[in-house]
Amino acid sequence: MKLYLYNTLTRNKDEFKPLKGNKVGLYTCGPTVYNFAHIGNLRTYIFEDILKRVLEYNDYKVKHIMNITDVGHLTSDADTGEDKLEKGAKREGKSVWEIAEFYTNIFKENLEDLNIQEPDKWCKATDYIKEQIKFVKKLEKKGLTYKTSDGIYFDTSKYPDYPKLAKLNLEGQKEGARVEVNKEKRNPTDFALWKFSPEDSHRQMEWKSPWGVGFPGWHLECSAISLKNLGKEFDIHCGGVDHIPVHHTNELAQNWGITNLESVKWWLHGEFLVINEGKMAKSEGNFITLQRIKDRGLNPLSYRYFCLQAHYRSKLNFTWEALEAAQNGYHNLIGEISKLPKPKGDCPEFEEKFLQAINDDLNMPMALSVLQELLKSNCPSGAKRQSITKFDKVLGLNLDQYKKEKVVSWEVQKLIDERQLARKNKDFKKADELRRKIEEQGIKIKDLPDGGYEIE
Ligand code: AMP
Ligand code: ZN
Repeated sequence: MKLYLYNTLTRNKDEFKPLKGNKVGLYTCGPTVYNFAHIGNLRTYIFEDILKRVLEYNDYKVKHIMNITDVGHLTSDADTGEDKLEKGAKREGKSVWEIAEFYTNIFKENLEDLNIQEPDKWCKATDYIKEQIKFVKKLEKKGLTYKTSDGIYFDTSKYPDYPKLAKLNLEGQKEGARVEVNKEKRNPTDFALWKFSPEDSHRQMEWKSPWGVGFPGWHLECSAISLKNLGKEFDIHCGGVDHIPVHHTNELAQNWGITNLESVKWWLHGEFLVINEGKMAKSEGNFITLQRIKDRGLNPLSYRYFCLQAHYRSKLNFTWEALEAAQNGYHNLIGEISKLPKPKGDCPEFEEKFLQAINDDLNMPMALSVLQELLKSNCPSGAKRQSITKFDKVLGLNLDQYKKEKVVSWEVQKLIDERQLARKNKDFKKADELRRKIEEQGIKIKDLPDGGYEIE
């Protein structure tokens, strides 16, 4: 069956065809590791995970690269303000390297909790400094750069397709440029490739370069890492919608300067998670982490389920009530599936419908409703389970729990989750109380030394 994906470049749902046979090169912009990822960031990674799983479900072989931004991302997203990593280090009284390692590890734990598959390769921006310097030299040689008092800039007026990805109105931007902070920039859209270390303060991360001691501009790492690992033309590049007008537009400009090609064929962007209709951002007060979800006794996979209930190109409003409702729905689903006998046979009609849904630009709300339809249908019970196990390869919701020794009802699972939280908080009185309640339901649990548990 054909796979259709919405390409930001064409503003159209186009039929997906890889550049080379059945191999797909996939690049996803990774986290800036100066703080925890918030659940808005994580929504984007869930969308990208679904994309990768759908590609694999369609028998494509995916090579997935993700970067870790550990240098160069300034607080303004443009080229002004402090480096987010240096700021994070000051806030916590640690070195930049410690901050980066700490938040990278937490990020990886978040991915594991959400059943998000890891990329084939992680690439830290600081491991690609040599490549980034080489790229700036190349762009300089082609006459695409100029020097100001604080760095080397890309002259965006030299790239005719600069406005293409974001459908930018450059004339409008020029009019608005009166408020432009950096008067040395030739065009408001020009961006830094290399920034000089400030003379009046000390940076922990800085490197020598032909232009002076400094650090790479934020957009450069993604060009250097993607082109080096996926080749000068590759299939798909993803991120959140905020990246369209600046980060990805600038990446395309750099890539073109380096390769003479429109190096990325497909750009896919996930819409924002919002809270009270406002943006969730690391800098705003409405910052919710996955840990907070866990601390409320909610299962991270309920958050994954919550995200799958909306299409990735629609805004999704977060409320605790909506997440709790999603958890109830998720637990009910697992409860129903657990009553089915061992997998045997399949339900082709529903498998076809499911494939149609996911291949229609990753329509996960539709895919979930096919799953519900299947459960209500008169397809044989063992066949239902078999088909659901297949669907879960894409959904990643751990629905096929028949593999586990015991499956419990969602009421009991809720008690177990609460007890796990009490154990974590060393509230052993509450944990014992909850154990009694669980045992009243006929379920025995054994605590494991690593903090986990087993159902006996
Ligand atoms: P950052 O760590 O800030 O570089 O962002 C990581 C990813 O999260 C990027 O792909 C962003 O586009 C995305 N992102 C940022 N805020 C949100 C949000 N509120 N909802 C969904 N994705 C977001
Ligand atoms: Zn990027």
